[in-house]
Amino acid sequence: METVDLVVVGCGPAGVTAAREAARAGLETVVLEKDAVVGAKRVCAAGLRPGFCETFDVPRAIVHCDTPRIALFDIEGVEHDFLFGPGHTSTREELDGTMGRLAGKEGAQIRTQSLFRSVESERGGRRAIVEYADLAAGERRRIAARNVFLAPGATVNVENVRAHGGATPSRFAFARWRDGLITTLQYRVYLDGRAAEIAYRTLELHYYLTQGGRQIVSWMFPKRDHLAIGLGVVGKIAGASLRSELDAFTQRVCRRLCPDVGILQMKEEGHLLYGGVPRPAFADGNVLLGGTAAGLVDATNGEGIFEAAMSGRLAAEAVAAEREHPVRAATRYAGAVAGRFARRLAHRVKLMRFLERRPARFTLLFEALARSPRFADVLQKEDLERTLGDRLYLYGQVARFAARAALG
Ligand SMILES: Cc1cc2nc3c(=O)[nH]c(=O)nc-3n(C[C@H](O)[C@H](O)[C@H](O)COP(=O)(O)OP(=O)(O)OC[C@H]3O[C@@H](n4cnc5c(N)ncnc54)[C@H](O)[C@@H]3O)c2cc1C
Repeated sequence: METVDLVVVGCGPAGVTAAREAARAGLETVVLEKDAVVGAKRVCAAGLRPGFCETFDVPRAIVHCDTPRIALFDIEGVEHDFLFGPGHTSTREELDGTMGRLAGKEGAQIRTQSLFRSVESERGGRRAIVEYADLAAGERRRIAARNVFLAPGATVNVENVRAHGGATPSRFAFARWRDGLITTLQYRVYLDGRAAEIAYRTLELHYYLTQGGRQIVSWMFPKRDHLAIGLGVVGKIAGASLRSELDAFTQRVCRRLCPDVGILQMKEEGHLLYGGVPRPAFADGNVLLGGTAAGLVDATNGEGIFEAAMSGRLAAEAVAAEREHPVRAATRYAGAVAGRFARRLAHRVKLMRFLERRPARFTLLFEALARSPRFADVLQKEDLERTLGDRLYLYGQVARFAARAALG
């Protein structure tokens, strides 16, 4: 059987970053991607945090718009804005496609039309056997690896991970996973003219309730040639209701940003996203779990590209550092991901639930962010990037906000 150092499942930001950086470190790396073209089918608003291209060494050519302004719309539709970054927008065709090509240049083998089926770690964790379907040839194949990095996104099926010859249930199993799934729908709105200039400098996020009283988060992210207008609701919702919410939202956005411009074409796309707490385990034997499949998404705004790419980097680093010890590599990776993300992302879920319980709290928070650029700046930083001064300042702001929210 073919044997390599690392098999990566999924060529999204998590998988492709792991593959690129592992190959660069000299590891023989194979990526299994079910789609025929990397990134072509990804549904995403593709908003990127400031510094993304520099952090992951991705060419600036993928950037559609620099967006130095964030506009948060509260439950009453009132806009609160502040400056940051700037952030950026792209499309996943370009982001994943470009990163895929760069990974290939480093020597990673990307096998498209390869549908992952299962992974089974041998006892002792020296090797894992991955089974996949070669969709082009219509055949089942097996490949052995010292480590496997699983990053197939929100639709991951962890039942297919069998550790220690299947003797024990997967450590990735997580009863609360389904509760965190978000149904999303998005239109790519192609206009026959330009929207207001401010639209191309702004990431808009709207927090309000559906007709049925459920919390909704929607967005307008500008692109070179279209506006990405979409929304997400936790749990399942009938397709017709979701579409009618999105139609109403799209009309509101277009009335405000492009009242005199016609719509040439609208492309509809939908996918699942995850907005709950991260999984309790990121490694099982010699198998590593990353990106959205590991629950690494910010519940307040749906950001998961940065988290995914960073988990890929941490996976490559751990596997390269522990070449001869696949289980140790996985354990090292799990510690690094937990240290970097688990606390912040769990806090974000708590914050979101706190705000949702009394939606007027969104207004209080957005007012505070708009009033104080430093609050917005410190809140967006990772824990490890915050100075002691930042932390003290943040505690003060959070205490003030909590006191006002409790009274409100
Ligand atoms: C509508 C929407 C809007 C979003 N907007 C933003 C945003 O603006 N900014 C942001 O940061 N995040 C956003 N996100 C979240 C972001 O898309 C994810 O967090 C991010 O894509 C996670 O990357 P990943 O590599 O973990 O998984 P994915 O990007 O989902 O990639 C997984 C890859 O695995 C492949 N795959 C799946 N199953 C298999 C299998 N069985 N075999 C082989 N391959 C498989 C898929 O084809 C895919 O290529 C959005 C998500 C949605 C749904």
